[in-house]
Amino acid sequence: MATEEVKSKVIAVKKDKAPPKPEDLALDVASQQMIVRSREMGIETIFDRAESMKPCNIGTQGTCCKNCAQGPCRLPLPKGGIEGEDTRKGLCGATPETIAARNFARMVAAGAAAHSDHGRGVAETFLAAARKETKDYKIKDTKKLLEIAPDFGVDITVEGEDGAVLDRDVDEIAVEVGEIALAQWGQQQGEVCTVKRAPKPRYELWKKLGVVPRGIDREIVEIMHRTHIGVDQDYQNLVEQCTRASIADGWGGSMIATDLQDVLFGCPYPIKSSANLGVLKEDHVNIVIHGHEPLLSEMIVQAAELPELIEYAKQKGANGIQLSGICCTANEILMRHGVPLCGDFLQQELAIVTGAVDAMVVDVQCIMENIANVAQCFHTKIITTNPRAKIASGDCIHIEFDEHTAFEDAKTIVKTAIDNFPKREKEVMIPNQRNDLIAGFSYEAINYHLGGTFRGSYTPLNDNIINGRIRGIGGVVG
Ligand code: SF4
Repeated sequence: MATEEVKSKVIAVKKDKAPPKPEDLALDVASQQMIVRSREMGIETIFDRAESMKPCNIGTQGTCCKNCAQGPCRLPLPKGGIEGEDTRKGLCGATPETIAARNFARMVAAGAAAHSDHGRGVAETFLAAARKETKDYKIKDTKKLLEIAPDFGVDITVEGEDGAVLDRDVDEIAVEVGEIALAQWGQQQGEVCTVKRAPKPRYELWKKLGVVPRGIDREIVEIMHRTHIGVDQDYQNLVEQCTRASIADGWGGSMIATDLQDVLFGCPYPIKSSANLGVLKEDHVNIVIHGHEPLLSEMIVQAAELPELIEYAKQKGANGIQLSGICCTANEILMRHGVPLCGDFLQQELAIVTGAVDAMVVDVQCIMENIANVAQCFHTKIITTNPRAKIASGDCIHIEFDEHTAFEDAKTIVKTAIDNFPKREKEVMIPNQRNDLIAGFSYEAINYHLGGTFRGSYTPLNDNIINGRIRGIGGVVG
């Protein structure tokens, strides 16, 4: 598609009023600079769409239902509010409380499904590595494997014939942990095994309230059933199921993902790196890895360090390969390898606007469809890699990632980015902003830093929070 034709598709900046100043849209100077550039080039970004988007009044209240074909049923709050009894009802008689609770529950189901499905993918790869069905992944952190195995009901020792306690084979333990971990998704009865890790009073409370999840998928599917027309019409009961599904995700799917990723790739440890759009390098092939999972990005890190591919990049006129990341995938390779963060969710389009991104490689979650349109205004290739997440807009290419051929897939992706380097057509403009940071404060690393190998503990931290010397702790959670 011709660039002008593309531009006309992408330009949507309102002309009838002055757009807000970039400094009113973002505190970050690098983002401000790229917002200015995108406007000069007539390229629409989320900052423009946020101006033209008017939230629906009924949607804001959560009282629009389209859970059956008789709807949508819209239950707006009348101007001036409601005097007396609230008689609003959908065609089936659903009250605003029921509709709002159903809508909220479906959001919970989607969120829990997304995070847990990430964990499922990790568990499948972990099991493939444990069974030695892939040569690209290996069990790296056996210490953590032995720590988590009992939580999955896997013994790490065995009694010998003479009654002596013997260590079990680590490979056997890994296979059993992988099988039991993966089974948590399809389990129908009992409890998701990792939920018992919660502090005892919390676990007892969940038991008392009846919200301990039986299986990860089961709780998510049950939300979809309950929110179908004519099923659960008690908002408190609906929210109770939201709690069950949330625990299935937080203390199940997501927690299992963290455990198994650490065993596969190693526990993060404090490491120096940097962040912001200034990490891009004009004279390097820039590959931005964006999305949610570490399975592919770990392989891309290894592929980008291959001497043969660095040499290939030099043959194409670059001085090397610069990897950087956006969103959760970025965090995974930042905290284990120190790969710099190119930006956050809101900067994904702006990174492309620099003109320096040769490939943006995406897996799942948080990927704006419009990166495909912005990329068409530059030479940037958007490479989708996951069969769950393709993009119909723009000219994206799909290089499917398979855990059995992971390293070869990663090499193909890196080579595609290198081949694109000589095709840069627009002036490159990379903001100078680049901030140093230290990442990698895993639970294990903090524990070690507060007491060493033999006395590792959170006690010094807890004591100082309790005695008031530490006034507070901020958590930034993606
Ligand atoms: S479930 Fe009830 S409120 Fe929802 S769309 Fe159908 S009839 Fe309307």
